[in-house]
Amino acid sequence: MSQVEYLVDGSRVAVIRFANPPVNSFSFAVRAALLDAIDRALADAAVHAIVIAGAGEMFSGGADIREFNTPAAQRAPQLRDVIAAIEAAPKPIVAAISGICFGGGLEIALACHYRVAMASASLALPEVKLGLLPGAGGTQRLPRLVGLETALNMIVSGEPATARDLAKTKLLDRVVDGDPVRAAVEFAAGMREPRRTSSVAVIEPNFEALCEFAAMMAKAKSPHLPAPLRCIDSIRAAAKPFAEGSAIERRLFVELMNTNESKSLRHSFFAERSAGRVADVPEATPQRRIERAAVIGAGTMGSGIAICFLNAGIPLFLLESDQAALDRGVARIASVYDAQVKKGKLAPAERDKRMALISPVLSYDAIGTADIVIEAVFETMEVKARVFAELDRVMKPGAILATNTSTLDVNEIARLTKRPADVVGLHFFSPANVMRLLEIVRGDATSKEVLATSLALGKKLKKVSVVSGVCDGFIGNRMLEHYGKQANYLLEEGASPRQVDAAMEAFGFAMGPFRVGDLAGNDIGWNIRKRRRAQKPGYKFSTLPDKLCEMGRFGQKTGAGWYEYPDGPRKPLPSKVVDELLAAHRREIGVTARKIEDAEIVERLVYALVNEGARILDEKIATRASDVDVVYLTGYGFPPFRGGPMFHADLIGLQLVRRRMLDFARASHGDPVFWKPAELIDRLVADGGTLQGVAS
Ligand code: NAD
Repeated sequence: MSQVEYLVDGSRVAVIRFANPPVNSFSFAVRAALLDAIDRALADAAVHAIVIAGAGEMFSGGADIREFNTPAAQRAPQLRDVIAAIEAAPKPIVAAISGICFGGGLEIALACHYRVAMASASLALPEVKLGLLPGAGGTQRLPRLVGLETALNMIVSGEPATARDLAKTKLLDRVVDGDPVRAAVEFAAGMREPRRTSSVAVIEPNFEALCEFAAMMAKAKSPHLPAPLRCIDSIRAAAKPFAEGSAIERRLFVELMNTNESKSLRHSFFAERSAGRVADVPEATPQRRIERAAVIGAGTMGSGIAICFLNAGIPLFLLESDQAALDRGVARIASVYDAQVKKGKLAPAERDKRMALISPVLSYDAIGTADIVIEAVFETMEVKARVFAELDRVMKPGAILATNTSTLDVNEIARLTKRPADVVGLHFFSPANVMRLLEIVRGDATSKEVLATSLALGKKLKKVSVVSGVCDGFIGNRMLEHYGKQANYLLEEGASPRQVDAAMEAFGFAMGPFRVGDLAGNDIGWNIRKRRRAQKPGYKFSTLPDKLCEMGRFGQKTGAGWYEYPDGPRKPLPSKVVDELLAAHRREIGVTARKIEDAEIVERLVYALVNEGARILDEKIATRASDVDVVYLTGYGFPPFRGGPMFHADLIGLQLVRRRMLDFARASHGDPVFWKPAELIDRLVADGGTLQGVAS
């Protein structure tokens, strides 16, 4: 199919429609064909005005992300060349905007001489979300057309506005409810002269004050990110003559492209898109239909998982061991929806519709027709074994049997059934209806069909799925144990919980490890350590958090943990009791507290993740380093502008990361076994490779 359609209408208006499914993005081929079509219209004496529109129901989603990091992205004509040709054209050019008009799409529209839009069209310059600024004239032309304040809001937030919202600005010459192409042709038929956005002046008496205010807000909101401030600097340059402002925009754009923050944000974006791709499970792999589900256990996880299915419109059996637990589970689900209704986020009728999809049951015999069943019962093999025996007995052939276990062996669970190929781990994160991550645990026997179906189901439930092999803790929790271990050692050596948390929060985590411990419950880690002690007698770890738990300080749920909470859960205060506990513990283990730099805290916690992540990659538990990053970005609050632990390590340089590991191993209270660099890191450092370069 030709990328661009060219038609001349009876009123001597050329209509140019560009197509590049799914979002009419500006690939090299589209850019070239669009420029060709414009030249053709300019050369055609029978044409006196031009309309540019996207094919189908939308204008354009912007740059073609499939071309990112490929030579095609650099091939001329670049978007800037097409934009320059549009603006310089001697015949009037009108953009007809519908659907989405984002990024480069809006920059093209801004360069057109006039714009007609459907009222519902959505316009945005979202580049800031990738740590960039709209570098093809967006920061220079938008303020000229919508005014400084709206331009600052749109560019610094990256959020969309509708044509209806922008109807009163100079951006839109007409806002219509019907077909914008027809309206644009009518409009263009009466136009004789181009009107160039670059010659519009930005008139704003409070120009400097508004920019200052925006910069102050941006610093407060995103202290780590350079892009919002550079966006403001670039918009500020719109007060200068256009060519001068454009040169500044270009310079700032290139500067941002080279920041670690933008590299990391772009990595995070692409990592998420490639997560869930499995080499030996191609897209064409047959899938099973999922029209009805069952969830066993309506506790914390079961009720959250149930909500995911209900939100996706999938009817669900909810099974509990007794009526009271079942009622509690249904009430828990209802309370989540009620809260959304109260906040105005959900219509009461929609809540009722979703609640009506639940069939609460007490008997396994009732659920046999479900296409998938997910168990979220107590975390012991005995209970799971009983449940899987029942599932094996009642579920129809071809049903997928899934476990939400966090720590048990999925292969062992599979072997409890006569159909191990149908068994898979679907590890949701708490709260399951909020957290985006889903670890799909592929057992030795899990069939490709079951895996492909689980991946498709993950999409339907709006999750980001990462496939993990079977191991204790899978990808995320296996790494977390190492992170937690180092956090505890840091306390032994002289740091306070608040210092560790503050250092990690300054790095970009929303919460440091001790605040997370208090929130999730310190008893969870305590139980894991008890099990470890039984499994591995030589296993080295700090007994400090056990002592905290022995004092009943499980965290927020017991009103005290690493912190005190006299003013509620949002206000953790340092604890004298914990200070005394730390001092006594250090005396007991013979450690003199030393001053620890924040940088060491960050390095030790992050490199603990990196080292275990590298082992996970080497063992092929994770398919690719970026999958490990996605787990941490979507499930554990790793800051997206750091790209995930593995990408971060590559940016720092593996050789330097490895040297620090060896320093930590040699330190007086160090743990040389813990800090032995993963073999993969040794090999990569020897070969000059990167974690991201490890082929799956
Ligand atoms: P929970 O104690 O809140 O809920 C378990 C529910 O299962 C209870 O309501 C209980 O009545 C029910 N149940 C127990 N045995 C049953 C049986 N034989 N038949 C039917 N129902 C039965 O526990 P939870 O936190 O929701 O954890 C459930 C599972 O999810 C565990 O495997 C856990 O490891 C896993 N998980 C938990 C989290 C978390 O953060 N809580 C995160 C991921 C995975």
